[in-house]
Amino acid sequence: MEKIAIYPGSFDPITNGHVDIIKRALEIFDKILIAVLENPQKKSLFTTKERMDMIKEIFADREDVEVKAFHGLLVEFAKKNNAKIVIRGLRAISDFEYEFQMALMNRKLNPDIETFFMMPNVKYSFLSSNLVKEVFMLGGCLKDLVPEQVENKLREKFKKDPPVKSLKEN
Ligand code: ADP
Repeated sequence: MEKIAIYPGSFDPITNGHVDIIKRALEIFDKILIAVLENPQKKSLFTTKERMDMIKEIFADREDVEVKAFHGLLVEFAKKNNAKIVIRGLRAISDFEYEFQMALMNRKLNPDIETFFMMPNVKYSFLSSNLVKEVFMLGGCLKDLVPEQVENKLREKFKKDPPVKSLKEN
């Protein structure tokens, strides 16, 4: 049977840290289903469609990567998609407490679902979507932090220049 693993997250936007985890997971599982969280309560920079489109573009050449939007209980989404594995990335100790709680809650909700924790290359261990957005807004360089599709989309969103640069020019 095909081993499908779900990688859930906000991906607002996807970073090289996420990409690193996905590539590692592809070495182990037959298919990775990237579940993009659709949460009207959580304010995101990119719409669900924009976040999904960026991921699809990055993995356009991989038939074993699928992208879907999800809301509600992850365990229900997993069941509907015939997946028993959930992948989460662990950067530092700070991720651990929340992730540990979530994994055990998901196990309580559905004991058949197993959470796999994966560590990225250490060079991505400081990287988060929020930090990427902050660096971009302040005019910092995103080289090595996000795939070029993401950097292009950020420029497009802010009309070519990060807000700080546009302010400087005015
Ligand atoms: P969430 O809103 O669920 O935290 P994210 O999109 O930020 O969603 O992250 C999805 C998953 O990827 C989480 O398990 C998170 O810990 C992990 N992750 C995020 N950034 C990195 C990174 N740089 N390296 C490894 N894992 C990461």
